[in-house]
Amino acid sequence: MEDCLFCRIARKEIPAQIVYEDDVVLAIKDINPQAPVHVLILPKEHFDSILTVPAGNDIISSIHIVANRLALKFGIVDSGFRLVNNCGEQGGQTVLHLHYHLLGGRNLNWPPG
Ligand code: 5GP
Ligand code: ZN
Repeated sequence: MEDCLFCRIARKEIPAQIVYEDDVVLAIKDINPQAPVHVLILPKEHFDSILTVPAGNDIISSIHIVANRLALKFGIVDSGFRLVNNCGEQGGQTVLHLHYHLLGGRNLNWPPG
């Protein structure tokens, strides 16, 4: 999508700290980190949210596999981590391009705010 922030980051029109990239998935450091490790994992293809991913599309699986790899890379497997998808207004989604937050490196409270 032309004006979507994360599409523009995926097209390298806007700089970001890329920590992982393949043909379909991009992972970047969050610009406003909420934990020592705070990475955003997103599809290069635009989906507004998890609600618009068609049945049979394996992008969610691909994102989770990348999350596992990044948890290893950032050394948060043993301590534990959280993989979060905010969906919709009350779910806290502010960027309307599907993404997951990988958070770790501190004690994460439950329930989230
Ligand atoms: P959401 O609130 O939609 O679940 O998450 C959006 C996330 O994107 C927020 O954690 C926010 O800090 C992050 N973010 C917003 N703009 C930018 C940006 O330009 N670059 C990066 N790397 N992260 C951003
Ligand atoms: Zn987009």
